[in-house]
Amino acid sequence: MNEPTNNIEQARLAALYQVSSQLGASLDLSEVLNQVMDAIILLTGAERGFLMLFDDLTGRLRTEAARNVDRETIEGESMQISRTVLQRAATTGDPILTSNAQEDERFSDQQSVIGYQLRSIMCVPLRARARIIGAVYVDNRLYSGVFKEADLELLGTFANQAAIAIDNARLFTQTDHALARRVEELTVFQQIDQQLNKSLELNQVLSSALTWAIALTTADSGSIGLLVETETGPALRLSVNTSAGGEPPRMAPADHPVLAQVLQEERSVYLEQVSEAESLDGRAAAVQLAVPIKRDGLITGLITLESRTPQAISDEDIAFVERLADRAAVAIKNARLYEDIHAANKAKSDFISVVTHELRLPMTSIKGYTDLIMSGMSGELNEQQKQFLGVIKRNLDRMSVLIRDLSDINRIESGRMQFEVGAFDVRDVVMEVVESFQEQAATKSQTLRVEIGEGDTAVSADSRRVSQVLTNLVSNANKYTPPHGDILIQVQPQAAFVQVAVCDTGIGISEENQAQLFNQFFRAEDAAVREQVGWGLGLSIVKKMVEAQGGEIWFQSTFGEGSTFAFTLPSANITRELE
Ligand code: ADP
Repeated sequence: MNEPTNNIEQARLAALYQVSSQLGASLDLSEVLNQVMDAIILLTGAERGFLMLFDDLTGRLRTEAARNVDRETIEGESMQISRTVLQRAATTGDPILTSNAQEDERFSDQQSVIGYQLRSIMCVPLRARARIIGAVYVDNRLYSGVFKEADLELLGTFANQAAIAIDNARLFTQTDHALARRVEELTVFQQIDQQLNKSLELNQVLSSALTWAIALTTADSGSIGLLVETETGPALRLSVNTSAGGEPPRMAPADHPVLAQVLQEERSVYLEQVSEAESLDGRAAAVQLAVPIKRDGLITGLITLESRTPQAISDEDIAFVERLADRAAVAIKNARLYEDIHAANKAKSDFISVVTHELRLPMTSIKGYTDLIMSGMSGELNEQQKQFLGVIKRNLDRMSVLIRDLSDINRIESGRMQFEVGAFDVRDVVMEVVESFQEQAATKSQTLRVEIGEGDTAVSADSRRVSQVLTNLVSNANKYTPPHGDILIQVQPQAAFVQVAVCDTGIGISEENQAQLFNQFFRAEDAAVREQVGWGLGLSIVKKMVEAQGGEIWFQSTFGEGSTFAFTLPSANITRELE
């Protein structure tokens, strides 16, 4: 090697070192590609050049960067040979060099070689992670520099480093994209979950799931349906269909090809060129995707998506719809459970309605005749007969209370209880109820007092229901307070409410029992409770009635010392102001 060559060599190596050391500083793909292209031109002294990479999805080579030649020209007729050269290098992995394209039989008859007066061409593959990711191409015209073996070697060395830098940037961009997509998807799923679980109405849930599936994929239309049992076996009821308008749900039999395939393979099915007859929802499509909705490993429904554009549904779309189907399955399960509970509640409510109604009639008759016999109008009674009739009467009262309570609960729970809300002074109701209990309290030598606080005691509620609530609470205070105890009723006007409290010095409620107090049929085990007439329904009715009128109820109790039950009712003044 003579002196000048050595100098050139050194300069080249220095340049190579310099450009190479800059590579990898950035992870931005287009920046890296630009750096690479600049460095190639600098290192080879080429007039023009371009770089192509294999597209991950299509597998085809795509121009990613170019110098002194535009993309259109590269992709046009005139550069057919350059593309072929690059294609060859990229597929075989062999570098290509010609110092005299005009005479090289591989290129000499090519239009671009003649037209552009090409003399020198160089092309090397880009290799990273043991595979070829693309290739770079450079050329020179007749009158400018001619590429030699040393140039090819230099380009090859640089290309190896460039490929790694490009690959890293691509990986980073992909990871970055994937991460961004994942974050976006999680945010979307959060919204989807919220919306899916907001509604417990099955059709609403199905419709939301389908709307999301179409909105977040490139599908044009779709349908969602659940598997149901029919007389002729299982079938898919297409509950929501974006193209069906107001039509009633269509049924697709289980042996329909798409459905049968999903049922057999138990996974998503992707079909191309689907005719109207083949399509599950009667729509011809370029692509159709059918994703099963599974619950506990069993297919319970299907989401289908269609598009008139070929390749419109990507692998990512499929993965997304599959995840959506999993979430929809949970929401569908909840909605179905809710429907079942609703149906069971309705059945219970209907049953109670019938029973209480049917019991009332004979009870009235029994009560009427008992009263008649007791009055002595049907003949003189001896003491024992009177005593027996007394037992019958007390038990009749118990039964009437049960029938009344059951039918109250039923009406409240089914939303059939009417509240005639109006403004009245709660003091009047308190006084009436206290009056009605005077005798009962006196029999147990209990004091029954009322304390009215300062201020306006007018409330906006149903006076009959408030009287029922108060009667219940005072009755409990009377029942569960031993003789000589005190019962105090306080009326306390507050800002927007009037508070009514019933305090007693009775048996109190243990902490354990306090948690269950408002549950239906709950009664404490104490003998002092069990010797009193009751069904454990009063407090649950009271709570529902107070809440239905816009109030709240709570209690405070110490076992063995006494209890206070307090409730609020909206103040009539505030209600008036709001109106
Ligand atoms: P009932 O009085 O018919 O049993 P309630 O629903 O009115 O039904 O009350 C439920 C239970 O709560 C009672 O059985 C009793 O154990 C307890 N309880 C209610 N009020 C009081 C009270 N003032 N003092 C002590 N225990 C009470």
